[in-house]
Amino acid sequence: MKKILSFLLCASMLGCCVLSGCGNTASSESKSSSKAEESSKSDSEKTEDPVKSGKAVASTDKYRNVYQIFTQSFCDSNGDGIGDFKGIISQLDYLNDGNPGGGDDLGVDALWMTPVNPSESYHKYSVEDYYNVDESFGTLDDFDTLVKECHKRGINVILDLVLNHISYKNPLFLEACEEVKKGNLDGKAKYFEFHEKGYYSDEVNTISVGDYVCEANFSPTMPEWNLNSDKTKDEFKKIAKFWLDRGVDGFRLDAVKYFDNKHTKGVDFLKWFVDSCRKIKNDVYLVGEDWDDDFQIKEFYASGIDSLFAFKFAQSFGEIVDSINMSAGQNLAKKFTSYDKKMSSANPEYINAVFLSNHDQTRIGNALKSKGLAGEKFAANVYMLVPGNSFTYYGEEIGMIAPNTDSDKYYRLPMVFDSEKLPDITVDGASTVEAPRYGGVKQQLADKNSLLNHYRRIINVKLQNPEIARGRITSQQTFNDPAVAGYYIEKDGAKLLVIHNFSSDKEKTLEITNDMIPDAKVCADFLGSADDAHLAIRDGKITLPAYSSVVIRSAA
Ligand code: CA
Ligand code: CA
Repeated sequence: MKKILSFLLCASMLGCCVLSGCGNTASSESKSSSKAEESSKSDSEKTEDPVKSGKAVASTDKYRNVYQIFTQSFCDSNGDGIGDFKGIISQLDYLNDGNPGGGDDLGVDALWMTPVNPSESYHKYSVEDYYNVDESFGTLDDFDTLVKECHKRGINVILDLVLNHISYKNPLFLEACEEVKKGNLDGKAKYFEFHEKGYYSDEVNTISVGDYVCEANFSPTMPEWNLNSDKTKDEFKKIAKFWLDRGVDGFRLDAVKYFDNKHTKGVDFLKWFVDSCRKIKNDVYLVGEDWDDDFQIKEFYASGIDSLFAFKFAQSFGEIVDSINMSAGQNLAKKFTSYDKKMSSANPEYINAVFLSNHDQTRIGNALKSKGLAGEKFAANVYMLVPGNSFTYYGEEIGMIAPNTDSDKYYRLPMVFDSEKLPDITVDGASTVEAPRYGGVKQQLADKNSLLNHYRRIINVKLQNPEIARGRITSQQTFNDPAVAGYYIEKDGAKLLVIHNFSSDKEKTLEITNDMIPDAKVCADFLGSADDAHLAIRDGKITLPAYSSVVIRSAA
């Protein structure tokens, strides 16, 4: 049989040579390679999408795909031009309908809400009352309803908590100022960083009150708490309990980097706060903002905090975008691997917090615009397929961009649910004037090739393979190609191999040996286009198209 086949093949090749004249070797090569492509294509077309048959299981622990909401900009329920709690509630079925892996939802299972406390600032990071919500967002009852509705759908609520500074309008600070003016530094002044003039060599970042100054690193409207005082600590315990008792699942701690000052060791204070919160709610989730280098982040992990944002991988000039720009996947895999080792050595229980951008940074769509839709999908693969919690900034999943990068408010423009009905919300005077490039949520849900549907797929795969979030990167797998990132994630005996092809235009054929993963099988692929054929390992090889990713695990 075989012999007859090869004879026929010879004859047909001969015929082909005669017809084409065999004059040009290159063209006959390209012909045979295009034939091979055709046959591999028809083979792949038979490959079922492995994700279709997988089973998504809702997360019940701290490992989550988090969605960051800037309440003012998300959804306005009463037409006053300000997003609010009822607006968020009306969109919860979009975020997570409570049916893991099914339905028309994004599938995120935690919200990080930037501050909701009363504040004159639109961003609310200068808190005037830690025990209430801003009335433009709704009432405490509305907030409680939001938490309840989130929990119904399996969504955790992580509240932004500002412990570094307070609003200069907060009554506690105003009372302290009155006392300080009279020369009394032992009363309410103890809550804050009040010192005699001259205490700071540089008084630029201070507020002057009588003969004294109060530290204020961010703004003269935001004086700093004294984190080394028992009075402050008692107050913070009360604040944490107030919100945890209302059902909040955790806190995002603002400006952790600034906890360090002349007489406070930030990590000691952070450890105290983490321990105190765990006494109130033992499975509380805490993630800190330490916009700093590995060295500092590692120091703060020694506090036992669950997570600190991995800033170096984020932002338009961070490691992920850089690596995509330079097609330098292998190098990025090395950095992911060493980061995981470094931080887990400081806190073995640490949960990495990986993201592309947040409310303080130009939207990632701006940085990735030149890479096209496939490049934007690829960036999502890269940050969401490392162990830990992913943080998706609202609107990132529909590819929102900042129309202007001069000021923060342009990174915080309203979410677009329907590009044919632009939101009537203004953010510090700025509003949406143009429909987003790829359409709003409604348009993208209807398009199987959309960025939004790509995000939905990644989250679904993470719910099907819980080890991706919960494992550790145990080692890097190189493929002798600087464009290819490969790393192993291991958890409780399971071993997964994640591979990304960082090339913008070249497919990569890679050898997958039994030593890497015994009985290897593709459990999920992430392609630039939903129309592309699904990936499979054939004869120990797999071919990844440009800007694609794959997760491989043992079939057994
Ligand atoms: Ca409103
Ligand atoms: Ca769902």
